[in-house]
Amino acid sequence: MYAERRDPELTMPPIQKALLAGLLTVLFGACSAAPPPPVATARHLVLVTIDTLRADRVGVYSGIDLTPRVDGIARAGAMAQHAMSHVPVTRSAHATLLSGRLPWELGVRDNLAPAEQPSSPLLAEILKGAGFRTEAFVSSIVLDRRGGFSRGFDQYDDNSPKTAGADLLETLQKPGPETLRAATAWLESQRGAERLCLWLHLYEPHDPFEPPEPYASRYKDRPYDGEVAYVDALVDDALERLGHKEQTLLAVTSDHGEGLGDHEETLHGFVVYQTTLAVPLILRGPGIGSGGKIAANVGLVDFLPTALDLLGVAAPQDFQHSGANLAAALRGGPGPTADSPQYAESLVPLLHFGWSDLRVLQRGSWKYVLAPRPELYDLASDPHEQRNLVDDQKERAAALRGTLARPARAGTSGRTVGRGADRPRRSARTAWRARLRERQPVHDLDPGRRSEGQDPRLPSIVGRNG
Ligand SMILES: [Zn+2]
Repeated sequence: MYAERRDPELTMPPIQKALLAGLLTVLFGACSAAPPPPVATARHLVLVTIDTLRADRVGVYSGIDLTPRVDGIARAGAMAQHAMSHVPVTRSAHATLLSGRLPWELGVRDNLAPAEQPSSPLLAEILKGAGFRTEAFVSSIVLDRRGGFSRGFDQYDDNSPKTAGADLLETLQKPGPETLRAATAWLESQRGAERLCLWLHLYEPHDPFEPPEPYASRYKDRPYDGEVAYVDALVDDALERLGHKEQTLLAVTSDHGEGLGDHEETLHGFVVYQTTLAVPLILRGPGIGSGGKIAANVGLVDFLPTALDLLGVAAPQDFQHSGANLAAALRGGPGPTADSPQYAESLVPLLHFGWSDLRVLQRGSWKYVLAPRPELYDLASDPHEQRNLVDDQKERAAALRGTLARPARAGTSGRTVGRGADRPRRSARTAWRARLRERQPVHDLDPGRRSEGQDPRLPSIVGRNG
């Protein structure tokens, strides 16, 4: 899965390179002055986020036969083979997706974070400014307008009736068919619109795992998989009703995965293994080559600059982001290099329990976890993260840790890491208590910082996550 990606131009011997250049001159020399052909762009955007969808539950990522519709979208379009969420909680991950900023730049690091989104415009604000009609339909109270996501949407449908048996914030949800009904009714009312932006958020794979029939019977022993199969059918339904299929950029992704008992984590939000960080990222639309695959590590932070390019929308001057534009790669051109670093974190153990935070730096196939007990995995040979190589590969671990101590991605923002570093130092425990009480944004926990709390991966602690 993690074969080293090499740019063919970089690996070609000089003599061959010269011959190829000469051949291209002969073939295309007469046309060299002609302007390049216009790049195909999409008129509309449909962004579908399927909450809590593990990448390895999507067929094109693992071969498992659960998601024929989403697989079909990937085959008609392109997929990022190693896409990751930067934080395994709903609100923070969506904040990154819609802003192009990393969690530590936003200060949105858990589901209770205050509605402080960046001054830089969000997805819907940019598209509205470009003449789009914008509408969002979300299925969880975690994404209601108090989170600050409604900026730029003409309407933001966040009605979340209490589901039977719901007793926690995360279990308040709207059933997918209801969200879909509202979304498709809006689409049908907008048939004459020049440009449309629809964000559809489906919550089905999130716990509780209670798929309807026939999925309940078919996946009796695997109710999570039953929810995934069910939501796959919903995605298909939404697309058929769109009516502008050929002119639409369709993006299907997720905010995080699910533990499902692996690494002693049942749900998500605490630890930072691939079970909850690896997510599908699939795009289909004008200009995107069929069956394309991006092999390098990419993240949800890359979505917004990529989508703007694929829509032919110029980024406004005040748009700042920390992502990479993947549009050229999706069109069959050059993409990010294999060793582009990606950052991820989990601060819920610190902010809610006073334990240690966890930080991740992934580069190529190597993944380093900064924690009281640091970990290093080679995902190419050990995709399930069973062999911690931190003691065998000390130099590599030190190098990755050093990268983590600096900003994980060079942003275009003037905001610096550790914005609050000049404040009086408080102990981590005092700090997290204060933040929990005040619900302050937590910008000042930069990628390299680690609290001195207990390791949240101790079995006695991991069993308590939710
Ligand atoms: Zn979520």
